[in-house]
Amino acid sequence: MLVGIAKLAAESQPLESKRQVEYFELPARSLLNRTKPGMPFAWAINPYRGCEFGCRYCYARYTHEFMELDPAEFEDKIYAKAHTAALLRRDLRKITPTQSIAIGTATDPYQPAERRFGRTRAILEVFAEGKGWNLSITTKSDLIVRDLPLLTELKRLSLLHVNMTITTLDAGLARLLEPRAPRPDLRLAAVQQLAQAGVNVGVFPNPILPLITDSEQSLDAVATAAAEAGATYFGGGVVFLMPSAQKIFFPFLEQNFPHLLKRYKERFEKSAYLRGPYQETIRDRVRRIRERHGLASSPAPYEPELWAGGGQLELFPIIPCAEPPPGPVKTPRERGDSRPTPPRSP
Ligand code: SF4
Repeated sequence: MLVGIAKLAAESQPLESKRQVEYFELPARSLLNRTKPGMPFAWAINPYRGCEFGCRYCYARYTHEFMELDPAEFEDKIYAKAHTAALLRRDLRKITPTQSIAIGTATDPYQPAERRFGRTRAILEVFAEGKGWNLSITTKSDLIVRDLPLLTELKRLSLLHVNMTITTLDAGLARLLEPRAPRPDLRLAAVQQLAQAGVNVGVFPNPILPLITDSEQSLDAVATAAAEAGATYFGGGVVFLMPSAQKIFFPFLEQNFPHLLKRYKERFEKSAYLRGPYQETIRDRVRRIRERHGLASSPAPYEPELWAGGGQLELFPIIPCAEPPPGPVKTPRERGDSRPTPPRSP
């Protein structure tokens, strides 16, 4: 029987319960994933599965379904891939160095877990062992500036560009949409630091959300700030909502934008992708804004200082955090995904 302080404690009412994030080590078979034809990069690397930033519109929640987890757990159960450096050294033997490699296509490589586990840094260190790679990094996090010395060295050895995602400059709206991602001003400060260090950096207001972030004014504000911070390219794509993303995004709309729920449901319940003139309107809007600010649509090619004789390479624009998954969703068995190991303490 409980007595004294133990009894009082047991009878206490909860005041607040803090969100609990669990971290797991995921044994991965490979680190480099081949993308489907038509994608703007040949290979993708995602050091983590799950993403603590918890963006309400995130398409990558379906990747947790592969592990038979609920899409809502995407932001609470984070899987860091094991032995990243060794796997990457092995995988790199099978590719042509100039093929484009995108880091952070499905989850953010600079999410909070990176502070503890450093998987992204370990990957960059492997790339810095050689030269002539064709790399891009996509993130919403100012944590990337932690690796500024390494990135500065990498861009001298290989082609490198960084895509920063900034959906809106409105900090309140960003907090609603991307509850645990760094504030827009922090992301812009990171863009500035990267640009000042000579790293090729672009900004993407992705995903563009109809009637929430798609106004000319909102997109122009992001482009203005991006250009002022030293970004050289800018682009944007419209959100797509697969059923796993709808499970989170529709209740979010109901709570925060109830007047939009019906319209989103009408358009996205039949297909994850918007078709028709809206896409064209947004394409034109983004193009106009880009031209107004003298921004390119993709990173300019350059010859890395320490990589003589590399020749001209093709560079592609990346659409951060809004890329459709490469092809139809497969079951865990089809993909040969292994079950995660038990949680370990962070
Ligand atoms: S959209 Fe990108 S940053 Fe946001 S939760 Fe998904 S992976 Fe993370």
